[in-house]
Formats: sequence, structure tokens, C-alpha cells
Amino acid sequence: MLEIRGRIRKGIEIGPLTSIGIGGKTRYLIDVYDLISLKKVLRWLSSKRIPYLVIGQGTNLLFCGDFAGALIRLGGNFKRMWISDRIVVGAGIELKRMIRRLIANGYGGLEELYGIPGTLGGAVAGNAGAFGRSIGDFVERVWITNPDGSEQMLSSDRLGFGYRNTKLPENTIITFVELTLRRGKGSLRKAEGYLKKRSERIPHGLSAGCIFKNPEDDSAGRLIEACGLKGYSRGDAVISPHHANFIINRGNANFSDVIFLIEKIRREVKRRFGYDLELEVRIIR
Ligand SMILES: Cc1cc2nc3c(=O)[nH]c(=O)nc-3n(C[C@H](O)[C@H](O)[C@H](O)COP(=O)(O)OP(=O)(O)OC[C@H]3O[C@@H](n4cnc5c(N)ncnc54)[C@H](O)[C@@H]3O)c2cc1C
Repeated sequence: MLEIRGRIRKGIEIGPLTSIGIGGKTRYLIDVYDLISLKKVLRWLSSKRIPYLVIGQGTNLLFCGDFAGALIRLGGNFKRMWISDRIVVGAGIELKRMIRRLIANGYGGLEELYGIPGTLGGAVAGNAGAFGRSIGDFVERVWITNPDGSEQMLSSDRLGFGYRNTKLPENTIITFVELTLRRGKGSLRKAEGYLKKRSERIPHGLSAGCIFKNPEDDSAGRLIEACGLKGYSRGDAVISPHHANFIINRGNANFSDVIFLIEKIRREVKRRFGYDLELEVRIIR
């Protein structure tokens, strides 16, 4: 089989690769540790016509069942940081760890994002944010690998950061990210303050984060709560009594339980308030 720096496994359970713990099996799980190996993997998958999806920590994903292709995760070199006159970070690093290390090196600005689960790549792909800040505010440029293994650099404006959204070309993999940050202002205490606020607001348990994006002038959680849906459940999936925009897997929830609740919320919110809620979580069919 393919010689790479990394690991290729077959027939792996998807549930443990995600924060909501739901999914069937993936045909391949490929952990890849450097750029040369990533290019090899992509060319190999393309020659075999095997579809792929890059994932981070699976904190914004809901799989409907098996995945007939390859899930790719970035490790090794993709978890490294280079701090000189520029700050370049591998997309596979955990966001929280990255922020802690940047603060330790005297760089501030990202404190509000401290504690958003997942990797830098996942955060950039969806322009993750909290407390009025988004990762896109700090991205100077990214390097991506295309499905044919070629590389490209994209400046921040090409990525078109919007609310929980970017214009990242389909099937491209963010490998490295250059950040612009202020020096001398980093505060771990401030970051931990946001982490504390977050742990008070966000429900504990297995979830995929917020299910819906907020409509322009309202909050999805408030609308769902106003429909009386907090605590509403199906099987082992429940609309969190703590924060209505989260669906919690109490242990054995499956995709159809969660999708039932998603459809129920959509119908009720449309009927009562006229909004068509847009999904924030990404469903992989
Ligand atoms: C408890 C909880 C709280 C959360 N709170 C917040 C919050 O406050 N704010 C917020 O914005 N989100 C929040 N989320 C959602 C989630 O944490 C973010 O969307 C996060 O950025 C996803 O990162 P990930 O590495 O887990 O990506 P994944 O979920 O693995 O993937 C998400 C998407 O990003 C793509 N992707 C991942 N890596 C790459 C890459 N290297 N190149 C290209 N595409 C890539 C995937 O293909 C997929 O489309 C929360 C989730 C949970 C479970």
C-alpha cells in the first residue's frame, strides 16, 4: 500500500472521531503528518476515485451513517507553529493549544476564541467565533492543497470570511495558516475568563456545537426555546434544556433521532416566527 508519514487504517468507527459520537464506519481513516505525504495520499485517492473529507476534531460534523471514502486528519508537521516576524501555524493544531502557546509567546487578540473545540483548520474553514470575534479577523493568508495535490496560497480576502462561513474552494485542504496578531497584549487570565463564561453557557455532554446559525437579528437558541422545545427528545437525542440550540446525545442517539429533532425545530420555528433556520452543523451523507 501507500508509503507515507502517517497512518492508514480501514473500517474505523466514525462516532469516536466526532464530538457528538454518531456515525457508522469510514472506509479509510488517514492520519497524515507532512505535506509530501498529503500530496501522495490525494493523488492515490484520485487515481482510485475514492472521495475524501478532511476533518479536524469532528466538533461540527454529523455523519448519517458509513462514509464510503477516506477521512483525512492532519497531524505531525501540521500541528507545529513557527513564530518569527511572521506567525505560521499548521492547520491540524488544536485551537485552544495554539492560543495558549501564542499567549505564552506574548501574542494577544485571540482570547475570546479560547475554548472553542476543534482544530485551527476546522475553525478557519467555518470562520469559528465567539463573543463577537471570529478567527477570520486574524487570518492573513492560508496555504491549501487541491484535490490533484497542487498547492496554492490564498489571501484572507480570497477566503471571504462571513458569519460561520468562508468561500474555501470545495475539497481543498487548509494546511498552514498565517495569522496577524498584536504583540505584548496576550493574557491567559482574560482567555480563561472567556473559557469560564463559555462553560456556564454551553451545555455539557456529547454535541456538535450549535445546530443552527443565528438569523440576522435574533438568536436561534431563543427562538427554539420560545417554541417550548427545550428538553424535547427523540430516542437518546435531546434538545438541551440548558441551551436550546444544542442537541445532546445522551449515549445511544443515532442520526435519525438527531435529524428528527432538527426537522421538528425547523418546522416549529418557521410556523411560529417565519424564519428558515440555516444549519451550522455540517451533515455528511
Ligand atoms: C461544545 C461545543 C461548543 C462549540 N462552540 C463553538 C463556538 O463558540 N463557536 C464556533 O464557531 N463553533 C463552536 N463549535 C463548533 C466547532 O467547535 C467549530 O466549528 C470548530 O471550528 C470545528 O473544528 P473541527 O476541527 O472540529 O472541525 P470538524 O468538525 O472536524 O470539521 C468542520 C468542517 O471543517 C472542515 N475542515 C476541517 N479541517 C479542515 C482543513 N484543514 N482544511 C479544510 N477544511 C477543514 C471539515 O471538512 C468540515 O467541513 C462548538 C462545538 C462544540 C462541540
